[in-house]
Amino acid sequence: MSFKDKVVLITGAAGGIGKATAEKFAAQGAKLALVDLKLDTLEKAATGLDGNPLLLSANVTKEADVVAYVKATVEKYGRIDVFVNNAGINGDFKPIDEQTVENYRNVLDVNVIGVFLGLKHVIAQMKSQKSGAVVNMASNGGLLGAPGMSAYVASKHAVIGINKSVALEVATDGIRVNAVCPSGVDTQMMRSIETNASKGNEAQARKSFEAAVPLGRYAEASEIADLVSFLASDQAAFITGAYYRIDGGGGAV
Ligand code: NAD
Repeated sequence: MSFKDKVVLITGAAGGIGKATAEKFAAQGAKLALVDLKLDTLEKAATGLDGNPLLLSANVTKEADVVAYVKATVEKYGRIDVFVNNAGINGDFKPIDEQTVENYRNVLDVNVIGVFLGLKHVIAQMKSQKSGAVVNMASNGGLLGAPGMSAYVASKHAVIGINKSVALEVATDGIRVNAVCPSGVDTQMMRSIETNASKGNEAQARKSFEAAVPLGRYAEASEIADLVSFLASDQAAFITGAYYRIDGGGGAV
């Protein structure tokens, strides 16, 4: 696969999956625009990446920030070929009778409104080009339940619903829209889930999460990046509106 001179925009690019995805596309010749909340963490994450990527701080829940990151990308590169709609949070790990409205709103704001706003403004640009590929970051939690994570699970079910609908809207514009559904990936997000779930014994929590996966381990972020780059590539030209499990045979989260 080659993304030589293709413009790839990635949100949540300072995090585990975003960074690994940026590395994957950079190695295949892409021009990168990377978005995350803070410029300093983004600068650290982008150290050593080829191609002098454009680094943009933005909160994906704020429409003005989303408009600005799309505009800055188009001003620098003239187009957007691939959009990896990846930024997300897991929120608090609590049974439903202890959940708060605040936690639900936070999680839905980032994972649903952030995904919606990215699509809204990137798709407008891709329609003007009559081409583009989007990969939305869902989760196995968008297909299954996960005790204590109802807010996150609701948000990722929503991502899959948005993914299916938008794919149908834009197919005749030459734009493909797909989603990936990982189970536990070895990133900061799993550290946070282990802490939330463990009541002080993170190592034990990790062991039991990994034991629940038929392949017996978390995914590496680079393994998720492989699927993202395949779905964004011309080799996936007949795939749209799809959502792929990447879960070692059936892990949760
Ligand atoms: P991570 O915590 O390492 O990275 C997430 C990144 O998103 C961080 O850099 C964070 O700063 C950024 N972000 C959060 N809120 C933001 C906002 N409002 N605006 C801009 N950026 C924001 O987590 P990760 O594992 O790399 O997760 C990436 C995506 O993959 C998320 O959507 C997550 O739900 C999904 N996912 C992760 C796992 C997993 O086990 N790690 C499994 C399935 C799906």
